[in-house]
Amino acid sequence: MRCPYCGNIEDKVLESRTMANGESIRRRRECLSCGYRFTSYERIDEKPFMVIKRDGRRQPYDRDKLNKGIERALEKRPVATSMVEQLSNDIEDLAISKGRENREISTSELGELVLEKLYDIDKVAYIRFASVYRHFENLDEFITEVKNIEKRGKSK
Ligand SMILES: [Zn+2]
Repeated sequence: MRCPYCGNIEDKVLESRTMANGESIRRRRECLSCGYRFTSYERIDEKPFMVIKRDGRRQPYDRDKLNKGIERALEKRPVATSMVEQLSNDIEDLAISKGRENREISTSELGELVLEKLYDIDKVAYIRFASVYRHFENLDEFITEVKNIEKRGKSK
């Protein structure tokens, strides 16, 4: 950092301290050229990634929640545990690149990403996730979804 006294940009940090709120760091610096001591503050400048819920409210993106949803869908399915982790990573990457502009994504977009991935891996998990996520109201909706899978399967 540029010394406010002589303008030299080389300094050494004498002390770093995280502020009580945990959101900023205060550093005590000493100019290597003239020995002047000054203080700098470092703050988080990144907006957290948010998820927009159905009712329009925003919540910070929660990776655990995503993981749990995927785990539940894949419970007792012949899919390796490492696959769950891999799947979460892939979906997270997709979600973040999709919502890059505003640093937010809607639950429905996120849900569709999960469905797309599950569809390729395990059809039962796909139906499980869809029934929770799309709130199937009745058996008809469920059957329609299963038929859709069959159709997609044939067209592939
Ligand atoms: Zn200086």
